[in-house]
Amino acid sequence: MVKPIVIEQGTPEEDWRAWPATAAWPELPLAGAGTPLVVAPHPDDEILGVAGLMATLGRAELVAVTDGEASHPGSTVHTQAELAAIRRAETDEALRRLGLGDARVHRLGQPDGKIEEGPLTEILTGLLAPGRWCLATWREDGHPDHEAVGRAAARACEATGAVLLEYPIWTWHWAAPGDARVPWDRCLRIDLDEMASAAKAAAIAAFPSQIAPLGPDPADAAILPPHVLARFARPYEAVFR
Ligand SMILES: [Zn+2]
Repeated sequence: MVKPIVIEQGTPEEDWRAWPATAAWPELPLAGAGTPLVVAPHPDDEILGVAGLMATLGRAELVAVTDGEASHPGSTVHTQAELAAIRRAETDEALRRLGLGDARVHRLGQPDGKIEEGPLTEILTGLLAPGRWCLATWREDGHPDHEAVGRAAARACEATGAVLLEYPIWTWHWAAPGDARVPWDRCLRIDLDEMASAAKAAAIAAFPSQIAPLGPDPADAAILPPHVLARFARPYEAVFR
């Protein structure tokens, strides 16, 4: 399913906030969560999607599939190698801000934009176990890398008996409340307390390469401008089970 990610503004956060259905989604029960395996296609996805959950649990193990080197393909400021190094360091800082500075991080260094599903499935299968939570981007999130990660995680969970919880990122941009393409009936919410909300905001701020322009050239524009970031400042997170 191809969805338009790069449309002007996407669905405004006010529309999501005004949608009463979100309040009726059941809460994700956190008892027995263990240490979840969190899979991020690009550095920052894990933070935008489930930083509040990670801060609330106080533990997580991260699989960073790519280093996100392709975020600014025409950058006049940074080479791809520089961007990769910057984004790796941003993830480390974000985890520190969540209180997870000593979390285990598996950096796979796969090519940004061309995630290799087969090898990723094998690696995830080796890390998962029956009942263990695996948080991955939703299989139909609308970005090829996000969808590849979701599919690999789904296969690895099926093979191991792990629990797949998919988090949407770009869905909030291209979908609208009640959108029939989204499995709202499988949606669970994670309510964030003040501590978790503050930790998430601080962690998002650890990604200046994505939330601020790298420079004045249009190729160096922010990937996550304020109207996109607004969707990740909610007092809850959502996953599909
Ligand atoms: Zn991403």
